[in-house]
Amino acid sequence: MGSTTKIFKTASSGRVSSADISDNFSDLYPMLSHEHSVVEASRCLYCYDAPCLNACPTKINIPKFIKQIHSGDANSAATTILSDNILGGTCARACPTEELCEEVCVVNETEGAPVKIGQLQRYAVEGLMAVPAAHPFQRAPKTGVVFAVIGAGPAGLSFAHRFAMLGNDVVIFEKREKPGGLNEYGLAEYKMAGDFAQKEIEFLLEIGGIEIRYNKAFGENLSLNQLRDEFDGVFIGVGLASARKASIPGADLQGVENAIDFIDHLRQAPVKAEVPIGSDVVVIGGGNTAIDAAVQARCLGADRVTLAYRRGAQEMGATDWERQLASINGVNILHWSSPSAIIGEKRAEGVVFNKMHDADGELVAADESVTVPADMVLFAIGQTMAPSGLEALALENGKIQVSAEYETSVQGVYAGGDCIQTGVDLTVQAVEDGKQAAIVADARMRLK
Ligand code: SF4
Repeated sequence: MGSTTKIFKTASSGRVSSADISDNFSDLYPMLSHEHSVVEASRCLYCYDAPCLNACPTKINIPKFIKQIHSGDANSAATTILSDNILGGTCARACPTEELCEEVCVVNETEGAPVKIGQLQRYAVEGLMAVPAAHPFQRAPKTGVVFAVIGAGPAGLSFAHRFAMLGNDVVIFEKREKPGGLNEYGLAEYKMAGDFAQKEIEFLLEIGGIEIRYNKAFGENLSLNQLRDEFDGVFIGVGLASARKASIPGADLQGVENAIDFIDHLRQAPVKAEVPIGSDVVVIGGGNTAIDAAVQARCLGADRVTLAYRRGAQEMGATDWERQLASINGVNILHWSSPSAIIGEKRAEGVVFNKMHDADGELVAADESVTVPADMVLFAIGQTMAPSGLEALALENGKIQVSAEYETSVQGVYAGGDCIQTGVDLTVQAVEDGKQAAIVADARMRLK
């Protein structure tokens, strides 16, 4: 994703037009043409023991698929990608490739820029998805095993697809009205334009053997005991559903909300231009969610957007490319600034920040503060797992403890994605967790 930087139509005063807002939320960059993809593929050296492959959490055979594109067989390239990563379409659009496969591409050393692996992956996968009924995998003979999956996010969908492909059946229980998890509700619209998350899931479900039941909330109208009684096993992929709340004075004023809720609302709004936006927006946090919220606030027409982070640029979770996208689109990034209060009568009017500094690795407040005007404040300070329904499971640092084979402390109950102790807020890692858990669960059921 890191090879293109789009400049949005933003406002210096007043709202941008509805047409410009629609344009802002269209694709971040266009898909490569056939000719361009072949030329780009020709830059690959097809390295033996390719570092790009080893940097990919799902271990996609990158040199192989690039060679297939180069020889004009993009559909086979897509099959190569999808056999390791069934959500390779979303990963091509939203993965921080600049910190994964493209960072280690050897062409960086000779040409100063990597092979555009993410864009080639997108070209291949979306090309295949455009062909009717082109799902490239078939199910193994039916085993009669049926598993329940909790959560239709990337980990749950990946588990379901691989488990169904191995001949088993799956029922996914999803608390919302649509599947996709963060792919549908939590990424910036311009990364997933064109209802891509839903199209990709329709393609994934073509494998067969997967049913999704909606409005089923774990811990509310669904319990682990009930699922263990009814199914042969359970996979939990509930992600981190609770946004961490700020506990500073003024956090309950009007105009203050969680960035993830703002992004969710925006993603689901049929007319983006009707989503309310302040003129002075302050986003607090240092990860990609903070950047997605800040840039989209600019896309909606906020006059001034400030992103404040308590440490320096190097410590931010957001990648260099994400930070560059924000800066080039007028987001002012304030480092070493920790919020101490939100001021205002009923509605937010400003945020007071303590200036911070690093004292031998420890974050210390300096004797200096700054107030940034704000009529909208978005907190992106992390998410935690909603604990309801998980009482029977051992946790570690607030997340589900799993073995190296993705089994929880309860036999026959597996988990993967952001909700496990090794979860890293990365779609591609959630896909890998789901895939590996499915392979283990299938092998164990065959031994019974
Ligand atoms: Fe091709 Fe770069 Fe991967 Fe080598 S590291 S196989 S050049 S994409």
